[in-house]
Amino acid sequence: MEQTKIFLNESDIPRQWYNLAADLPTPMLPPLGPDGNPISPDMLAPVFPMNLIEQEVSQDRWIDIPGEILDLLYRWRPAPLRRARYLEKYLDTPARIYFKDESTSPPGSHKPNTAVAQAWYNKQFGIERLTTETGAGQWGSALAFACQLVGLECKVFMVRISFDQKPFRKMMMNTWGANCVASPSNETNAGRKILSEMPDTPGSLGIAISEAIEQAVTDPAGKTRYALGSVLNHVLLHQTIIGLEAKKQMKMVGEKPDIVIGCAGGGSNFAGLSFPFVADKINGDEIKIIPVEPTACPTMTRAPFVYDFGDTACTTPLLAMHSLGHSFVPPPIHAGGLRYHGMAPLICQAIVEGLLEPRAYHQLQSYEAAITWSRTEGFIPAPETSQAIAAVIDEAKKAKEEGKEKVILFCYSGHGLMDLVGYDKYLSGQLTDYELPDEEMNKFLAAIKDLPKAEMRKSGKW
Ligand SMILES: *Cc1c(COP(=O)(O)O)cnc(C)c1O
Repeated sequence: MEQTKIFLNESDIPRQWYNLAADLPTPMLPPLGPDGNPISPDMLAPVFPMNLIEQEVSQDRWIDIPGEILDLLYRWRPAPLRRARYLEKYLDTPARIYFKDESTSPPGSHKPNTAVAQAWYNKQFGIERLTTETGAGQWGSALAFACQLVGLECKVFMVRISFDQKPFRKMMMNTWGANCVASPSNETNAGRKILSEMPDTPGSLGIAISEAIEQAVTDPAGKTRYALGSVLNHVLLHQTIIGLEAKKQMKMVGEKPDIVIGCAGGGSNFAGLSFPFVADKINGDEIKIIPVEPTACPTMTRAPFVYDFGDTACTTPLLAMHSLGHSFVPPPIHAGGLRYHGMAPLICQAIVEGLLEPRAYHQLQSYEAAITWSRTEGFIPAPETSQAIAAVIDEAKKAKEEGKEKVILFCYSGHGLMDLVGYDKYLSGQLTDYELPDEEMNKFLAAIKDLPKAEMRKSGKW
């Protein structure tokens, strides 16, 4: 029988996370400290608790999920796998389209998968307060939710433009007991410096990260740490529960994906769904794996593979990644979660290896895809998720042209019910496409030309 919804029993929830670092054919380049040498794990100790640092540097393929974290996750996991049969019918495609529905969590996205894990490990380590940054507010609301569940204080620096334009996520954070301020703020040296130079700045994720890290490391009691919602190895690790569940669910209906798709801002939902399938590809399966980004912030498709800082104030270690430069201030497109200047180093190494085929979409095509989706499937996707849907529709149309029964699996990273202003602007014709001009990109890249060079190592198998 053809199923539209595929559910896993709670007893079948994955009990381990999958660590792609253990299987990459060429190892990742190490993060570097200010002196240009690889950092040691204890250098991260003021920022993260040691139990998470251990996960960050782990080379173990499988890492056990503590039972208490599973208990937190049961609120919404296992998440449903759905088949987009109404969209398939509308497109008249022979492709079968499955999506892992991460919009069913309380905050409405995949982000709490790592938020609850990070909050739990911090609590275990004796930490009392977490700081973080948030763009459109999805990560901030996920961490606020998670901190409430485990009993931690939560402080969120929210990018100014979103703070002003998208007040509803801020209200969610307050509802879950967190304190949310606009970034740049007057509360940190990093914030005050930017405000004195650019009083009208819309802010950026990079600036907000600097502020959150500064507040964590300057707590005189040493009981504050910082939490990051994407990019880092341990964050991607926690998200692999998405792909591990999806794999079991695909098996239940006797399917294997030919194509795996996810939108990528810092890369966590994409990695979460795709990494268990990247493992299959490394082991010989033929799978096309596509991370999707906006043309306005073309990190994977146009930016060089370099060593760069994760934040604007240059406080983080140097990470080997595709980067538009840490001073990049992205244009205010509506896919707020996809405006980061860098990309997860694990994903970047997989791109260098040739295991992934990144792609960029314009804002208008993404919204058009979101409207098609909303009017066929019914659910209204987040603007970030819409980028993945645009790629799904393209692949489904291609399958039709070629007359091939492709199986497409993608990550439905979140719902768009807090993002309706963007839909309103699209429907009233106020949105435009934006492609980052070369001159603009080169200006930001010039600022990182003196940083250490990142060598592109690959096995040559893909
Ligand atoms: C934050 C977010 C993203 C982008 O972040 P990743 O770390 O790349 O997954 C994508 N979709 C939704 C719904 C988000 O909230």
